[in-house]
Amino acid sequence: MLAIPHLLTGALIGKVAEGVPYALPIAFVLGWLSHYILDSIPHWESYFPNKNNPYFETDDPIRKWPKSVLLSIFLDFTVGFFLIFFYLRDVNFWQTAVFWGSIGAIAPDIIDNVPFWNRYVEKIPVLGSMRKFHQSIHISNDQKKYPKYLGLVTQLIVITIVLWIF
Ligand SMILES: [Zn+2]
Repeated sequence: MLAIPHLLTGALIGKVAEGVPYALPIAFVLGWLSHYILDSIPHWESYFPNKNNPYFETDDPIRKWPKSVLLSIFLDFTVGFFLIFFYLRDVNFWQTAVFWGSIGAIAPDIIDNVPFWNRYVEKIPVLGSMRKFHQSIHISNDQKKYPKYLGLVTQLIVITIVLWIF
């Protein structure tokens, strides 16, 4: 999924965990697990091919990534983190479960999908298996056949539910 639904879901987990003992690590771990659950829901990804953006592998070096894809990823992360930091603007963010929940929730994409290091992660014992698991949860080849709006609607539903509960 895009970064925004992941970050907001992690933030919500953190908000719920706030106050329980060990809230920060609990929010981080549950946020991390939520990543796989959300990724198992059919969704659109910004790196899916379209007419302006031919097929490329996310394992390709960054110079091969289409500019439109890099821009949409940049916007996605910027908006997502802006929302988190805006919510936490009056507190020390690193001491909140909301922050650590959202970091846990985006961690699998940061570790597994950033082209500067994703090919090396694959070779590290535990991280390599986790990356394979992360990839296997995406049924992306099937998803690429569905219209883009459907893959966006599922994410919009997740965002709406999360903001509703928040
Ligand atoms: Zn993911």
